[in-house]
Amino acid sequence: MGNRGMEELIPLINKLQDAFSSIGQSCHLELPQIAVVGGQSAGKSSVLENFVGRDFLPRGSGIVTRRPLILQLVNSKAEYAEFLHCKGRKFVDFDEVRLEIEAETDRLTGSNKGISPVPINLRVYSPNVLNLTLIDLPGMTKVAVGDQPVDIEYQIRDMLLQFISKESCLILAVTPANSDLANSDALKISKEVDPQGLRTIGVITKLDLMDEGTDARDILENKLLPLRRGYIGVVNRSQKDIDGRKDIKAALAAERKFFLSHPAYRHLAERMGTPYLQKTLNQQLTNHIRDTLPALRSKLQSQLLSLEKEVDEYKNFKPDDPARKTKALLQMVQQFGVDFEKRIEGSGDQVDTLELSGGARINRIFHERFPFELVKMEFDEKELRREISYAIKNIHGVRTGLFTPDMAFEAIVKKQLIKLKEPCLKCIDLVIQELINTVRQCTLKLNSYPLLREETEKIVTTYIRERESKTKDQVMLLIDIELSYINTNHEDFIGFANAQQRSAAVNKKRAMPNQVIRRGWLTINISIMKGGSKDYWFILTAESLSWYKDEEVPSGTWWTPTPASSTRASET
Ligand code: GDP
Ligand code: MG
Repeated sequence: MGNRGMEELIPLINKLQDAFSSIGQSCHLELPQIAVVGGQSAGKSSVLENFVGRDFLPRGSGIVTRRPLILQLVNSKAEYAEFLHCKGRKFVDFDEVRLEIEAETDRLTGSNKGISPVPINLRVYSPNVLNLTLIDLPGMTKVAVGDQPVDIEYQIRDMLLQFISKESCLILAVTPANSDLANSDALKISKEVDPQGLRTIGVITKLDLMDEGTDARDILENKLLPLRRGYIGVVNRSQKDIDGRKDIKAALAAERKFFLSHPAYRHLAERMGTPYLQKTLNQQLTNHIRDTLPALRSKLQSQLLSLEKEVDEYKNFKPDDPARKTKALLQMVQQFGVDFEKRIEGSGDQVDTLELSGGARINRIFHERFPFELVKMEFDEKELRREISYAIKNIHGVRTGLFTPDMAFEAIVKKQLIKLKEPCLKCIDLVIQELINTVRQCTLKLNSYPLLREETEKIVTTYIRERESKTKDQVMLLIDIELSYINTNHEDFIGFANAQQRSAAVNKKRAMPNQVIRRGWLTINISIMKGGSKDYWFILTAESLSWYKDEEVPSGTWWTPTPASSTRASET
């Protein structure tokens, strides 16, 4: 010792330890520390109390230490204790310290022997202690009692391993001398994480309780199960001493006397006993901290750097700056516009190969779905024949007609034209639905701003709905216009002469799929496949309505409603 800088090391680590404890140990730093492990009643708590020179740890039969206790010993003139969980309160009465440990343990574990890995942080200031930080851990046990879960043995093991498997942790393995060293729980678990015995310090308690004629000399001379840091023997107070309130000072004196007078240990007396153990631990922890400090520092520095970067980014971000907010908002809305246009108008970049875009779907509606809807329109042939014949007969009235009257043609054609309204409206509905789906997909990007997303969707959808009703009105109006006046002079109107000329060309088309849709309402020619083997071709032209069974269609009369076909209508 004697090196001022070195003496500051342990308090420095203590500060870090407190900081980590109060933020819930979320930090991945491994602080150098000493963990005390051993079987139940091995004497762990007794060793710690002897360091402090005070009775302050809960005692009793069974499992008493049920949460890890991080015990920071700080050399100071005044003698008192404080807990991290009630900072500012100075405990000068060490009986109260014990009560507080008990109360704090129960607070997390319940009063019936449960355990918890959340540590209690206790700091003891005293002129009798050397700077030292130790962690008192629950003793290893085999049988569950009270509220303990059946797997208590493994739970405790896990908790111990959490602490001692870190390379930065020194292990104080406490083993009672009156049991076989080979069976020591402490040494067994230490060996698992430190097989070469590099960071394990052996402590042999209860040397005074060994059977007469036996001793632990081989162990203490580090011959039996050698550890690099060796073994230190101690004699704590027996239960009788504690019950009789034997004071620790007297106990330490008795311990010293024990080693000096025992024939097997006399030669080792200077390297035995509690004061020597405390001194050794202080030195070893200090050295250990010094060794692990460079790695700790570089880890801390890299964490600091990344934290600083985060803070910087946050500073620059200035989320409350209104100018920034507006800009971000505008950018997002613009992006929405661009995305929407791309989906409807199509684009070369980032072509989706998994599904159709909004625009492509709308195209499909116009060129596949709409014709299909038209084709699907049902015509009852018998009904139609009767309607046509009635129309003709009603127009002629009492007279028998010579020619098919125009008015009959109009009445029948108009009735058929009106049927176009429904598929047209359906087509509009489908397109609207597709537009709204596209809007939804484009607003997905705004998901992190739910209000903005909702508002954007609302505005755009409302607009689309407005256009929807206008479009429907417009399309209905168009059909109504066509219904109100059939212009037989229009260039698209197929008269007898024209029809005859074109019959050959269209005849070829007939071999193609089942619908031909031409410009202008009055030249809409619809051929209907009524499924199955019975195919009817129904031809609606400006001049007449004709229908044929597939095989009956005479090629020459295809576009020429001959008197025969008209007669056929009137015949029915
Ligand atoms: P822990 O469960 O490991 O914390 O063990 P304790 O420190 O509570 O000790 C358990 C019992 O063993 C207590 O009754 C102690 O008085 C007793 N004990 C511990 N160390 C010694 C020792 O060195 N000699 C004697 N005679 N009794 C001891
Ligand atoms: Mg204990």
